[in-house]
Amino acid sequence: MKLIFLGPPGAGKGTLAARAVALLKVPHISTGAIFRSAIAAQSTLGLKVKAVIDAGKLVDDAVTIELVKERLAQADAQAGYILDGFPRTIPQAEALSAFSAADKVVNFDIPDGAVLERLGGRRVCRNCGVNYHIVFNKPKNEKVCDACGGEIYTRDDDREEAVQKRLEVYRAQTAPLIDFYRQKGILIDVDARPSVDEVVENFKKALGV
Ligand code: ADP
Ligand code: ADP
Ligand code: ZN
Repeated sequence: MKLIFLGPPGAGKGTLAARAVALLKVPHISTGAIFRSAIAAQSTLGLKVKAVIDAGKLVDDAVTIELVKERLAQADAQAGYILDGFPRTIPQAEALSAFSAADKVVNFDIPDGAVLERLGGRRVCRNCGVNYHIVFNKPKNEKVCDACGGEIYTRDDDREEAVQKRLEVYRAQTAPLIDFYRQKGILIDVDARPSVDEVVENFKKALGV
């Protein structure tokens, strides 16, 4: 199954994707995670995108589209995928439709207040990328990843100023994709407000799996 996860920053896309991977046996492809590993590795791509990401703005369409095109050409993505955080603009969605047709687009339905609460407490493992939350999903030790022992940190773009910018960018550039995919008849809405377990159930029901 080829899925797109669409929703504001902090809606819980990455968290649900980690659970859905086990269920659907498809790879989780997060453009944000790919950019963060490129930054950590100080690759050419990483050096190019770091300032833009830290400011809460979007990476260029051309760079992002090329990256996804190459990733989706790999063997593990042929039977399906979960695309998390791509597309984020209409030009990205149009480009994607020329090289891969998604079966369904999952729209994470969540009010701004909940998003702010989730982003404000988000922590991430620097080594394996797993997400935690200081209230809703605490690691056993606040500085150490339960899964791999890596260091837990706060993303630079989860700082207050960057969060405001990301929400503005979401409204202006990404929210129009809801209608874009609704018109194509492949959008499904999932209530993303309740606990992770309940969101997983809402997702399964909406998708019929
Ligand atoms: P979140 O899920 O919190 O919104 P992501 O990890 O998906 O964050 O993305 C982090 C940042 O990486 C974005 O704010 C943006 O700067 C960049 N990014 C990720 N995906 C895209 C994309 N499809 N187009 C442009 N920039 C992107
Ligand atoms: P996104 O990928 O959409 O930016 P994440 O999956 O990183 O969102 O989730 C944002 C934050 O909210 C993380 O700290 C995560 O642990 C937490 N979170 C995710 N889903 C839920 C949920 N259903 N209830 C409470 N907190 C959640
Ligand atoms: Zn880890």
